Amino acid sequence: MEEKIYPPLEVKQRIKANSRYYTGKMGSLFYVNLRDEKTLIGSYCPKCKKVFWPPRSTCGICFAELTEIVEIGPYGTVETFTTVMYSEPMHPRKAPFVYAVIKLDGADTGMTHFIDEADFGAVHIGMRVKPVFAEARQGNMLDIKYFKPI
Ligand SMILES: [Zn+2]
Repeated sequence: MEEKIYPPLEVKQRIKANSRYYTGKMGSLFYVNLRDEKTLIGSYCPKCKKVFWPPRSTCGICFAELTEIVEIGPYGTVETFTTVMYSEPMHPRKAPFVYAVIKLDGADTGMTHFIDEADFGAVHIGMRVKPVFAEARQGNMLDIKYFKPI
């Protein structure tokens, strides 16, 4: 039997999906603290002695249920980063911008967020940063507008 070879087919479409979801107990605690107090919290695993940021309800190492929270940051360190040079519809801002994985002081894991108020060429692994909070916070990750160099 002869194998048919089909050329790649691209379909241009736009998908919009409005949604709501429950962020969970830890997620709710995290976002409420961020929105109302501008404080950042992580969850602690006493068995692994690790602090997770953002907080999670299950340890990613030993799978224990996590119930302890600790305040972390607000200062942190850039673990890795990339400069986004082109805009895509799913990006929350127009390019160019810097995405970085930031590990807050007191946390053992990092999280991706923006770096701003910095020359792109000056961003580096190990750079110390602090959050800049949004004026009108709504209980989501963009309540931190971005991180900037200390
Ligand atoms: Zn653990």
